[in-house]
Amino acid sequence: SGDGEAVVAAVERVAERLEAERDHLTQLDSAIGDADHGGNMARGWAKAAETARDLDDPDPETVAKTVGKTLMAEVGGASGPLFGGSLVFAGAELEGGITPETAVAFAETYLEKVEDRGDARVGDHTMVDALTPAVHTFKKSIETDERPPLEALAKATDAAERGVAFTVPIRARKGRASYLGWRSVGHQDPGATSTLFILQELLRTVA
Ligand code: ADP
Ligand code: MG
Ligand code: MG
Repeated sequence: SGDGEAVVAAVERVAERLEAERDHLTQLDSAIGDADHGGNMARGWAKAAETARDLDDPDPETVAKTVGKTLMAEVGGASGPLFGGSLVFAGAELEGGITPETAVAFAETYLEKVEDRGDARVGDHTMVDALTPAVHTFKKSIETDERPPLEALAKATDAAERGVAFTVPIRARKGRASYLGWRSVGHQDPGATSTLFILQELLRTVA
């Protein structure tokens, strides 16, 4: 379907962007982690794009689930199951195609799964700090704006950007960065940053 092909195109854009940000993300992770986030994301999404491209007559649900499974298999560490496993679950919400309603259900399920798996909440210095305001803003905007999808995604991306900035002055309480205690203060979270890049590319695909 056309929507499925659009989702494949979005995945390809995300893969390109994460490849371009590989060194940047690795630098962020080297300050407070193990310096593999750039490689994890670039490698995982490249493989995901390749796998998605090979699907014939893809629909959005299948693409989302395929990308999720590929990320789980390819990435490992903390972020593989968080990005990948959550995408597999959330993908099921796209069964009826992409509408404003299924897009909101997808976003909310994705956030719930990330929270369940990682046990992190806003303020723990993780991807959840970017994702939570993005998802809440997206839902609220879809429910109130006149030009829903594009405007909602633009607002969600702005919210994620503020969430990324919010990770800088706070202390990490989950993930590897938490091992540093107070020394994690002053550093931007890599997973929140890659989450923002993904949203920015989704926005560019829709715009
Ligand atoms: P690893 O820490 O296994 O090397 P990555 O470097 O790929 O994995 O990813 C690190 C990112 O994963 C962090 O910047 C953070 O955003 C996210 N993360 C780590 N642990 C959690 C968690 N428990 N909940 C949510 N996100 C987490
Ligand atoms: Mg790492
Ligand atoms: Mg690692």
